[in-house]
Amino acid sequence: MATIYLNKTNLFYNLQKISSINPNIIAVIKDNAYGHGIISISKLLKEYGIKKVCVRNIDEANLVRGFFEEILIFNPPTNRGAINFSYTINSLTQLKKNRHPYIHLKIDTGFRRNGILENELDEALDLMKKKEFELRGVFSHFCCADEFGCDTFIQYDKFLKIKEKIVKFCKESKLKIPYFHIANSAALNKLPHTLDYVRPGIAIYGGIDGYKPVMSLEADVVSVRVLDEKEGCGYNKTFMSDEKIKISTLDVGYADGIPYFRNGCKLKDTIALGKISMDYMIVKGEFKKVIIFDDVKEFVKNFDTITYDILVKMSPRIKRKIIETNNSFWA
Ligand SMILES: *Cc1c(COP(=O)(O)O)cnc(C)c1O
Repeated sequence: MATIYLNKTNLFYNLQKISSINPNIIAVIKDNAYGHGIISISKLLKEYGIKKVCVRNIDEANLVRGFFEEILIFNPPTNRGAINFSYTINSLTQLKKNRHPYIHLKIDTGFRRNGILENELDEALDLMKKKEFELRGVFSHFCCADEFGCDTFIQYDKFLKIKEKIVKFCKESKLKIPYFHIANSAALNKLPHTLDYVRPGIAIYGGIDGYKPVMSLEADVVSVRVLDEKEGCGYNKTFMSDEKIKISTLDVGYADGIPYFRNGCKLKDTIALGKISMDYMIVKGEFKKVIIFDDVKEFVKNFDTITYDILVKMSPRIKRKIIETNNSFWA
């Protein structure tokens, strides 16, 4: 059976590295912890000392409600939830419908996807006060933090101005000052100050440069056979061998979340041949087990996509095993 190994040593390394920039971390564990497994990752984050996380929806929040002091839901319902849940306010309309007492205001500083606009801020603050919501946090999200260019700093400056305005409002209204957060992974080492909390996702899982990979996927061999010279293998025989070789069939396919490929794919220690099947793929050589990838930053080069996309689609059906290692093999 194929197994996903979660490298605790590397996860902790990444958390340590983020902590050296700002120790106040709201860990993003949305979408099954970027495909790693939300329960396994939550246990490890809790063990490390993480107190706050972000999830996608109420279902994910309910899964991890026992693990953390605060769970920020990016796309929440309108009805009341648990006391350690915080609901993101994505629009004025939603703020009007909301009945949960603990909120974070999301500000649209330029992403143009979600959040309160600058010219809606006064109305939002008045509404929040009138409805007696507790404003736990205020945040915004960068659209271009992984590029060079000035968008990030324009958004950042806008957010600082909004921060001042909100702090002033809260002081005048004798309300608790919320905490402010804006830095995703790519912004961690770009900003002059990362504000009260940082909000990284992919860096925790080692899907960008400078951080160590947490997930590796290992497959079992189902059968081994010989492919003769001038013989093809797999659907439509897109691979034709020009020599007699041994081939092994692995027990993972595109149904498990591996991106579809038509003409082979580079794995860690061998190559996949021809087309990937739903539940299988064929590789060159004779093996008992094959590591499909142990660093998604390398594996992604096979495909026209991003590391996030590969990680997040790894099937929840594959069993997860936590490992600890200082072996440089994993570095
Ligand atoms: C997904 C997400 C993050 C994390 O982004 P990374 O690029 O993975 O660090 C942070 N904030 C919001 C609002 C998000 O949706």
